[in-house]
Amino acid sequence: MTKPLHTELPLNPHVAGLPPYNAGMNIADAQQKSGRQDIAALASNENPDGCSPHAAAALVGLSPSRYSDPACMALRAALSQKLGVDTDRIVAGNGSEEMIAAICRAVLRPGTLAATVCPGFGLHEIEALANGARVEKVGMRPDLDFDIPAIIAMLERAPAIFFLSSPSNPVGPALDRKGLARILAAVRHETLLVLDEAYFEFTDEDTPHGLAALSATDLSWVVLRTFSKAYGLAGLRVGYAVTSDVRLARAVSAAKTPFNVNAAAQVAAVAALADESWMRSSVARLKRERARVASAVADMGLSAGRSQTNFLFIDVGRESRIVFDHFLSQGIIVKPWKEEGYDTFIRVTIGTPSENDRFLDALRDLIRT
Ligand code: PMP
Repeated sequence: MTKPLHTELPLNPHVAGLPPYNAGMNIADAQQKSGRQDIAALASNENPDGCSPHAAAALVGLSPSRYSDPACMALRAALSQKLGVDTDRIVAGNGSEEMIAAICRAVLRPGTLAATVCPGFGLHEIEALANGARVEKVGMRPDLDFDIPAIIAMLERAPAIFFLSSPSNPVGPALDRKGLARILAAVRHETLLVLDEAYFEFTDEDTPHGLAALSATDLSWVVLRTFSKAYGLAGLRVGYAVTSDVRLARAVSAAKTPFNVNAAAQVAAVAALADESWMRSSVARLKRERARVASAVADMGLSAGRSQTNFLFIDVGRESRIVFDHFLSQGIIVKPWKEEGYDTFIRVTIGTPSENDRFLDALRDLIRT
């Protein structure tokens, strides 16, 4: 028997009223709904090549009865060496999404202004709302690039946080040197700029490194990175925040849970960093596939964001829900967009060559009808 709901229990209205995070369809549901076993899971920007064999091997022999290191010392030391940043300015998280939550908790108060870009990564908005902030969003340009003057106008209002994913999820472009410099010149000292570089490894050679550009300023900033995409460790949940200063790192650290990164994630991430050649060759393969898929999509007459990520954001010209069902019936999961102005867009992850062929065949079928 279902228990009655205790509707009189006062819930935190900021949390109880949150929009749900759209995590996309999982493989088991897709198998059940499509009646197919061979699902091409192209909705979550995972790495179809898997992960470094050293990262997988590091999991063998772990002792599950011991707590993980709450300070993630080995991982932060390896990151410190890779990035040339002191360990005490690095905080490791249960995915970079946990860092988004911790940053909001550390910085925001009810009623403060938080800002981001639209369309953007859902948690930049959700975690700010969960802390009672007012969230305002700056649109992307119709040609699917960043609207730098609009971002600058928002920064001039001194929001407590500005979340900016570059490369953009879901649209795909990354800020160029000039755009980034113009944005940094507009950030006020009252604003924390969070540059979310989840897809950093997939960028072009000449795309500026946010970390280097931000380090040359006297601003408050965080750069977010993850092991979920290029390193292929999405299921283990590990990402990190690099902060402008130790005080900020301490506040973010205080806002996370103590044993947030599990032992398996910590050893696998350290092993992945020791084998970056695996990541680099996987990224090179995926970038070649991205170019192939993007040019096939353009040949079909469809427009897409200029991607510096492992996915494409494509205007299919018909309602994305219907498009989603079409792909699902063929065992392919894509991510449909619903926001106003983008409800004919889907986001598709670059998969293996054969998954990408399946996607392109299904897309050709769709636009023929
Ligand atoms: N930021 C962006 C822009 C993302 O696209 C994602 C994952 N989709 C994340 C952060 C969170 O990644 P994770 O928690 O797996 O590190």
